[in-house]
Amino acid sequence: MKDKEEIRVLKNLTAQEYINLEDEFGAQTYSPLDLIIERAEGVWLYDIEGNKYLDCISAFSSVNLGHCHPKLLEVFKKQAAEMTQVSRALRNTQLPLFFKEITAITGKEKILPMNTGAEGVETAVKLARKWAYTVKGIEKDRAEIIVCEKNFHGRTTTVISFSSNQAYKENFGPLTPGFKIIPFGDTDALKNAITPDTCAFLAEPIQGEGGVQVPPEGFLKQAENLCRQNNVLLILDEIQTGWGRTGKMFAYQHEDVNPDILIVGKSLSGGFYPVSAVLADREIMDVFKPGDHGSTFGGNPLGCAVSIKAMQVLLEENLVQNASEQGSYLIEKLKTLKNPHIKEVRGKGLFIAIELDEPARPYCDRLLEKGVICKETQNSVIRLAPALVITGEQIDFLFDSLKSIFEED
Ligand SMILES: *Cc1c(COP(=O)(O)O)cnc(C)c1O
Repeated sequence: MKDKEEIRVLKNLTAQEYINLEDEFGAQTYSPLDLIIERAEGVWLYDIEGNKYLDCISAFSSVNLGHCHPKLLEVFKKQAAEMTQVSRALRNTQLPLFFKEITAITGKEKILPMNTGAEGVETAVKLARKWAYTVKGIEKDRAEIIVCEKNFHGRTTTVISFSSNQAYKENFGPLTPGFKIIPFGDTDALKNAITPDTCAFLAEPIQGEGGVQVPPEGFLKQAENLCRQNNVLLILDEIQTGWGRTGKMFAYQHEDVNPDILIVGKSLSGGFYPVSAVLADREIMDVFKPGDHGSTFGGNPLGCAVSIKAMQVLLEENLVQNASEQGSYLIEKLKTLKNPHIKEVRGKGLFIAIELDEPARPYCDRLLEKGVICKETQNSVIRLAPALVITGEQIDFLFDSLKSIFEED
């Protein structure tokens, strides 16, 4: 324990002192950029040295409404002063309103609230399995879920069990069985993988951590058809692609499909609180009975209140439309960039990737010097995902910064 005097001294540190403290006392599960952010507003981040950056990570799309949105802040403060957490041993005034808002916006009949994305995925896996045994009639412990190569659904033990990334699984066994991996976007592979024991197909409509991988057009629709024909549940993980990121409220709307189970998280609360949710119609969700599942913080009034407001702000400020327009404009401009190392520019809405034929990290480092923060994924991909509140002028600043590092240097 540090005494009062020592804690008081631990203020106004230099960047290097913050870094040293973090690395000395923290488990080394990340390799962050060495920037110490102390303030954030809208699309901007400010570090302790007074530098300002355009944020193109947006906390992995968990702050789609921009940092510290004033309307969310107001609701958050008010709710925090009234009641933060009562647990679901009791009822509270915010949870039913949250349920009504999120079911209206997603068109699903029922919701199960959780906190993190990975918990949402775990919940969907449990739901699909219980449905397999109690509705579909699959023999005990035989249910299989089909997933895609390069998926990212979180970091819990069961979720990493069906990752195709060896580094995520290495030394964490024994892993959870019951999953089959097919190439993303491959309808024939899906068709061939389905057996009478298949209860669900789980996918991201556009793979985020996989490098903003957009599947071939029609894939989701074909997957939906295969699921329907075989009495298999279609589970879509919209944790990163949801809430307007791709220029539609949900990315599956680009292909007019209707998932049986929808998983959302990240920007559901506008980045104020970890809130995730699993949504489905009654005939599926009602397989869960009291005692089947739970979470101490799931559905807490603080998370519910701020999430209600976040969904409302998304609609009130027309941000889905803005993501679509600004995104199309940026993608068109990016396609004009002249650099032999650019292999492809792809994406939907403000979920955009520039894929290179060499490591992307040095490009990200140079962008940082121009005042733009982005991080490479899959080694050679620059992912651009600014907040949906971004203006045309800010998009131009972003493009000019990219142009200068790709064309002038
Ligand atoms: C981030 C993410 C998750 C995991 O969410 P956590 O809140 O980090 O647990 C799951 N699925 C997708 C598609 C994601 O992008």
